[in-house]
Amino acid sequence: MTFIVASIVERSISGVSRSSKKAFSLGADLVEVRLDLMEIDRVDADFMARVRMAVKGPAIATLRSYKEGGASRLTKAARRKALKAILRSGFEYIDLELESDADLLKEIKKTRTRPEIIASSHFTRPVKAREAETRLRRACKAGDIGKVAMPCEDASQALMLSVISMKFSMNGERFTLIGMGEQGQMTRVCVRQMGSSMVYCCMPGKPAAPGQLDLRTQLSLYRRDKVVLGLIGHPVSHSVSQPMQEAALARSGLIGAYLHLDVPPKNLDREILERFRNLGFKGLNVTIPHKKNVHSLCDRLGPSALATGAVNTVKFEASRIYGENTDVIGLTRMIEGKIRISPDDSALIVGAGGAARSAAYVLSHLGADVTVAARSLKKAKDVASMVDGHALPLPLEGKCHSYDIVVNCTPMGTKSSGGRIPIPARVFKKGTILFDLVYNPPMTKSMKIAMSREAKAVNGLDMLVHQGAQSFRIWTSKEPDVKAMSRAAKGALR
Ligand code: NAP
Repeated sequence: MTFIVASIVERSISGVSRSSKKAFSLGADLVEVRLDLMEIDRVDADFMARVRMAVKGPAIATLRSYKEGGASRLTKAARRKALKAILRSGFEYIDLELESDADLLKEIKKTRTRPEIIASSHFTRPVKAREAETRLRRACKAGDIGKVAMPCEDASQALMLSVISMKFSMNGERFTLIGMGEQGQMTRVCVRQMGSSMVYCCMPGKPAAPGQLDLRTQLSLYRRDKVVLGLIGHPVSHSVSQPMQEAALARSGLIGAYLHLDVPPKNLDREILERFRNLGFKGLNVTIPHKKNVHSLCDRLGPSALATGAVNTVKFEASRIYGENTDVIGLTRMIEGKIRISPDDSALIVGAGGAARSAAYVLSHLGADVTVAARSLKKAKDVASMVDGHALPLPLEGKCHSYDIVVNCTPMGTKSSGGRIPIPARVFKKGTILFDLVYNPPMTKSMKIAMSREAKAVNGLDMLVHQGAQSFRIWTSKEPDVKAMSRAAKGALR
């Protein structure tokens, strides 16, 4: 059983009273009063007792020190006095810091009438598994409940914390292990599977720590039947898949979350996928640069994954990992909505990664004569050979001609990307249509170049929506509200 703890961030006692009342009415099991964030006139037993009386339910008192990421700058002696006052004020739990409060922890652990002690420790940077585990073990020993928080720079660090959590849970420890920041959020979403004793969340708009979910969301995600999904890639910050897929979940009446999960290429292996499964993920989308690697990590492949050698959708089945490539259907829908391809139409695909494989497959099936251009001629040839196409190296030399269809399958033009656009203006002529798979920003540099040559230009948003809708069908066996997905994606781009 995990206690859902609402952190109360208020400056005054009346604020604490109001917020904690709301938290309990919404369903919080406990509230955490962040005393370090309050305007405190006197640090004495009377003040602490007044704060305690303001909360009509079980409460944790936390006086987080500046050193551990809080706002309290009390001297050692003043801190000790304040904590002693808290001990006498009737709080059910007190948060004591493993380092700053080491003496007090030893002293009061043996006393009989005292609040439950949460022994806490906060890393300021990500650490290796061994260090995180040792720290949590020390915290569990020092208090009744051990609490360790660590900032996560990528999803594999949060997965590492989840593995440690499951081990502690199996050993019957009382603990909470928190990944901070967006990349640590899965430790909050999947807290039930991790076996944590507590999960901290916030009142709307008042987070006490980076990555905290708001109380309503945290409560709904504690359900056993939630649908947890995500996008693995590196980078993933440009994506609008989260609002789009969460709109689909909401319109289908499903409780769930879709997380953007940064997984550096060196960390992607079968074990990482297994860890997502163990945490209760139903499935994943896969983006740059993992589509080809994930293809080789699946147990069972769908027809489009088999045809293209790339996977953008993973579904965790009971004992197997299923992979499919919904870029194929996404791209087909986008192209068919815009043009009718005739057999002598020429198509230039720029890039030779996962999306390029789908583009080559789709355009060749629609009847176009396909050329693939990439920085590595070897990779271009590899993709072109799938469809009996031609291959060219990037940058394109002077002799390259114009094409009827051009598809940008590189990330060049994405909001965060710098560097030169690999598509020269001369590949466009009046009547060419450019499909730029990039959609953030909605008007890319390549689109501007194409339009200046009187070519038509379409960004990748329609494809994103259609591939996402197909992934949703695979994960949930439900028909998504495609219009709502499109609205959410467009809204996120504004
Ligand atoms: P990927 O498998 O990593 O392939 C990326 C390709 O781009 C590789 O061929 C890479 O070449 C090439 N590339 C990277 N930087 C380049 C540069 N500066 N100049 C020339 N080529 C460069 O990624 P992907 O999954 O195919 O995705 C490609 C792009 O399409 C991404 O921006 C992705 O977000 C977008 N996409 C959009 C949708 C949609 O629904 N709209 C769907 C799929 C993909 P090297 O191999 O030499 O590195």
